[in-house]
Formats: sequence, C-alpha cells, structure tokens
Amino acid sequence: MQIFFDRRQLAHAPALELHNGGWTAHAEKPSRAEIVCARLGACEPVRDFGRAPLARVHTPDYLDFLESAHARWVAAGREGDAVGYTWPVVRRRPLDLERIDALLGRYSYDAGTPITADSWDAAYWGAQTALSALAPLLDGSATTSFALCRPPGHHAGADYLGGYCYLNNAAVAAQAARDAGHARVAILDIDYHHGNGTQDIFWEDGSVFFASIHADPATDYPFFWGHADEAGEGAGEGATLNLPLPRGTRLPAYLDALERALAAIAAFAPSLLVLSFGADTFEGDPISHFAITRVDYTTIGARIAATGLPTLIVMEGGYAVTELGDNVASLLDGFTAR
Ligand SMILES: [Zn+2]
Repeated sequence: MQIFFDRRQLAHAPALELHNGGWTAHAEKPSRAEIVCARLGACEPVRDFGRAPLARVHTPDYLDFLESAHARWVAAGREGDAVGYTWPVVRRRPLDLERIDALLGRYSYDAGTPITADSWDAAYWGAQTALSALAPLLDGSATTSFALCRPPGHHAGADYLGGYCYLNNAAVAAQAARDAGHARVAILDIDYHHGNGTQDIFWEDGSVFFASIHADPATDYPFFWGHADEAGEGAGEGATLNLPLPRGTRLPAYLDALERALAAIAAFAPSLLVLSFGADTFEGDPISHFAITRVDYTTIGARIAATGLPTLIVMEGGYAVTELGDNVASLLDGFTAR
C-alpha cells in the first residue's frame, strides 16, 4: 500500500491545551506521526495541489485567518501559542471585528486547539498529504492508500477549527474526488470522537454520504454534534448517519455498528470511500474510553476492505503514542489482504 507523509507537518507543536479544568500538555504531539512513519517505513513524497482544493470546503476568510492568526497574535504583543478565550456562542449576530482575540473566538469552538507559528504550514501540508494519497485512487493505479495526516482534520468545519484540527483533510479529499468526477463519495469516520467538522461541511450535500461511529456525545467530546437523530438537511437529508456507542464498547458491538454503517454506504452506492481513521478507540488510549485492541483493527480494516471500494485512509486521532504505529499497521493489514 502506498503511504503518504510530509515532514513539514511535524513543525506544529502546541504546548498546552485547556482540558478538564486545567492547562495540560498538548496530546496531539509530533511524535504521533513520527512513530507511525517509522513503523510503516518508506513514504511517498507529497505534491502541492495549491490552495484551491482547500477553498472548496473552507471559506476564504477562514483560510486567511488561519494563515495570518499567529502573526497577528505576535503583532498584538503576545507570546507563545494563540488561543481564544471568548466565543460568540448562541445567537450572537455576525460582527466584522479585527482584534485577534475576537477572531480566535469567531473561528474556533474550543480551547484545545492553539495556533502556533507553524500551524498553518503543517495543516496545509496535511491537506496536501490527503490530496496526494487520493491521486493514485483517481487515476486507478491503486485501490487503497494511506495519508499520514497531522494535525488531524475531522473536527474542522468550513470556517472553524477545534479538536486539534485546522483543515479538514478528509473533507478536502472527498470534495476533490467529487470534483474529479466521482458522483457519489462516502466518508466513514471511525475515530473515537464524532467528526463534527466533516458532518457540518457536507450537512446539506446529498452527493457525500457521511457515516460516523463514535463515543456517545452525551458523555464525550464534542458533545454538541453526533447524536443519533442528526441525519442531514435539505439535499443532504438522509446522507448523514450517526452511530454513537457507549464508553467501554468492545469489538462485537463495534462490528454491529460497522455493519450498519457499511450497509448504509452500500445503499448509497458510492464509487470511492474516504476512511477517517482514529486509533483513539484503542483500549489504552489516554483520552478515550473504548476497548478496541490492536488485533481488532485488522478485523475492522478487513471488513471495510471487503466493500471493494477504492479507499483513501486518512489519519485522524490516536493518543497512545507508543502503540500508535502498531495500531495503524494493524488496520492497514486488514486492507493489504485484499
Ligand atoms: Zn478522536
């Protein structure tokens, strides 16, 4: 299987995040990608597809903000990572504000996603990694490829960052596949956390089916998205499927949900699948609460591979760093058998 990775993603290294009432070391570390890269071996070089594919899912003002935010933070006399502290939540009217702190609130929804001097560059190359890994699927030279993206992407919406995510790599790739002629594309998100950004981006889009298996948002981040009754709106009504599961979920119940997701995807009849893969469903993950084991990932991968769909696997979360390389390799083993 072709593996795509770009080391420029490693420069993004936020120091702290606000979590459970205190500032803690940021869980989304560069070593996550390094250990996966070391475990998987040789990686294909990443091409630069430019900013246009990013602008197909993100708003121009958001991209401008993300690219300039840290410089504006420094210009305001600040040190360290840029992070908001005021959010225009419920029912605030849109305002054209200039102060960096107002902008950070406008374009984010949590305090776990600081912007460093290197965040734009790392996120940019993360999105290019997803696009590069999509290319062999579009030209038919591969049936499966893996994009080792970092920072992850599935919590980032069209005009907001959050959940360690800045640019939505899976959404950028799915839209690029649409633009390349795939009439129907499915995204299956199997990160522990609901992929709220991806859901929002395609919420009213009937050409991209979004299915997510994740921890029940009644108990787990991101709380405000991913409930079972969220199914899309307008042209996208019925093209979103949420399958929340309780903490402590093990493989049998997980596979039941996976069968439901794959049946819905089969009914949608896509010609390409984007798999948002987070290894934070792992039993040893420090911030999550499922009980999936390393060998389970091969079972999960093989079941998804059995769909026969060309599949782009995009790296999302996974914070048990020591085991992350083996867990990713285990999932990919399920695909290489096909
Ligand atoms: Zn996650």
